[in-house]
Amino acid sequence: MVRLGRLDEAPSDPEMTLRLGGLDDVLFVLGQATHFVQDLNQPLHAAWGETRAEHNEIEAQMLYRTWQKDHTYRGFMLVKNYSCFAHEIAQNSSQHARALFFDREIKRVTEIAWDQAVNDTANLWQSIFWHALGPERAGQLYGIPAPVGEIGNGSLC
Ligand SMILES: [Zn+2]
Repeated sequence: MVRLGRLDEAPSDPEMTLRLGGLDDVLFVLGQATHFVQDLNQPLHAAWGETRAEHNEIEAQMLYRTWQKDHTYRGFMLVKNYSCFAHEIAQNSSQHARALFFDREIKRVTEIAWDQAVNDTANLWQSIFWHALGPERAGQLYGIPAPVGEIGNGSLC
């Protein structure tokens, strides 16, 4: 797990400072990337054909109310390529669009989308640190473990 308290330590490597910019820049970009990862997990954002009214009607019902319960963290999957990762998320998410739109399986699909978005976000953040710092420092500074597998490795892009 990323310990945010350690992020305000200045990187000792000047090249790293140059690459990452200030902490506010880093966190803003992470926020943007996180938004896209989570947005793509909404199946209707990875499919098309519905009207805006239909989209809004379904989305208004996609409320996740049981987030307090235990969820499945499937372990750190290293993102090899961020564009491929986005393609994979959309590909997986779009497979639930039919159940969501035609069958109105809103609760079931919302739970799947939530769970996947949380895992994808955790993988995104850990992968960014892993790639920026290298495996050893990512582990030393933030306790990021060795990945259990890889995603965004080019199979879908
Ligand atoms: Zn939407």
